[in-house]
Amino acid sequence: MSRLIAISNRVQAAQAGENSNRGGLAVALSAALRASNGIWFGWSGEQTDEFSGQISFRRQDGVATATIDLEAQDIEEYYNGFANRTLWPLFHYRLDLTEIARDFAGGYARVNARFADTVAPLIEPDDMIWVHDYHLIPLGKGLRDRGFENRLGFFLHTPWPPASLMVSLPNHRELVASLLSHDVIGFHTDEWRASFIDYIVTHLDARIEGEFAHHDGRVTRLLVCPIGLDTTEFTSALGTAAALSAEERLITSAVGRQVIVGVDRLDYSKGLQERFLAYEQLLNVRPDLREKVFMLQIAPPSRGDVASYQQIRADLNSLSGGINGEFASIDWVPVRYVNKGYAREELFGIYRASRVGLVTPLRDGMNLVAKEYVAAQDPEDPGVLVLSRFAGASVQLDAALIINPHSSEDMADAISRALVMPLEERKERHAAMLTSVVKEDVRWWSAKFIAALAEPEPQEDRPK
Ligand code: UDP
Repeated sequence: MSRLIAISNRVQAAQAGENSNRGGLAVALSAALRASNGIWFGWSGEQTDEFSGQISFRRQDGVATATIDLEAQDIEEYYNGFANRTLWPLFHYRLDLTEIARDFAGGYARVNARFADTVAPLIEPDDMIWVHDYHLIPLGKGLRDRGFENRLGFFLHTPWPPASLMVSLPNHRELVASLLSHDVIGFHTDEWRASFIDYIVTHLDARIEGEFAHHDGRVTRLLVCPIGLDTTEFTSALGTAAALSAEERLITSAVGRQVIVGVDRLDYSKGLQERFLAYEQLLNVRPDLREKVFMLQIAPPSRGDVASYQQIRADLNSLSGGINGEFASIDWVPVRYVNKGYAREELFGIYRASRVGLVTPLRDGMNLVAKEYVAAQDPEDPGVLVLSRFAGASVQLDAALIINPHSSEDMADAISRALVMPLEERKERHAAMLTSVVKEDVRWWSAKFIAALAEPEPQEDRPK
């Protein structure tokens, strides 16, 4: 087996004893990296006065990691700038929030070149390289330009926007063409892949044959490969004291009321304002539900340096305050809005205590919370998932109540229906969803991608 080199913006391998907050990506990559004796390369998250290209090597949880520090200007222009203010909103179809600035694009190119320069000496001829996400789109091309002909894969963890939006980006051709330096590009859903194909056919004159794109003498496989959960983690997490105590605390404090839960990073892509408005609509049209339900929204703040994130925080403070002011009584608060993060064990207890899981993003590459809500339910008395059709997860979790998050009425109807759904129907829907969550877990995802990467495609007429 070839050695795997994973490259992502941040390296998330766990410190010893710090398992609870690791993402599924860390789990999947760590397993694959351990198996091949590979390396995980990325930014340390630390700032340095002057970029030196010095690499810190560590072994974390059995995984070799190699990290670099970045300068303040790099962090501002590449990470807070091009990644979080340009590409993130654009890739989530939010042209209104997309900031275009030459400094951002320059910083992005510079940091990608710094990644290529520093990782280059670590690469051996047989290594397979797997680059992750929108932070590092031009990195693969940078490696090709430096003479590397290794198998090279890229996985996009966000949606891919329609071509008509993509063209708003100055130099969009160059950016997208750089992706076609890879041998495999992975997407969560067919919809994101179809948008990508539409772009490369229209704007780059690429030719598509089955799953393969032909462009500039290279062949790139376009793979649909949805990420999943770490199933072993959630099975063991459910029995932990933290999970049981969170579940019990929520049930006790609910005093017989049904819990509607949402868990999202505080991000405009998650449709939180729309969700609060739909809940308000529900309380208006179904006065009989007042005092019988409440909504618990957990929303840890993220990217607080970016103005659009400060705005959504202010909007939600005002919406939750407004709903509570209008409907609360001396012993009932309709919205419990919590701006802090919880460990995943606690979340599993919280999911399990909740009759309805609300996952209503306006656009989301996958959405792991939807899968976690399903995995955490008691199969004999499961809750109901209300899921946006604009989340990548809705393809696999089509037995959820699928809603349009732009319609308060649609969402309010689905919540009403979920609250009275008969046990048999809840069990049936849950069983169907659990099957895909368990089968297509995070190890299945990484194995599928790595198998595609390991299988060489014929390269045609490669320019010398
Ligand atoms: N999460 C967490 N604690 C919290 C809120 C979220 O550990 O308080 C985790 C959650 O369990 C999930 C991840 O953060 O695994 C969010 O992933 P998702 O794909 O839903 O959305 P993203 O934040 O990546 O856009």
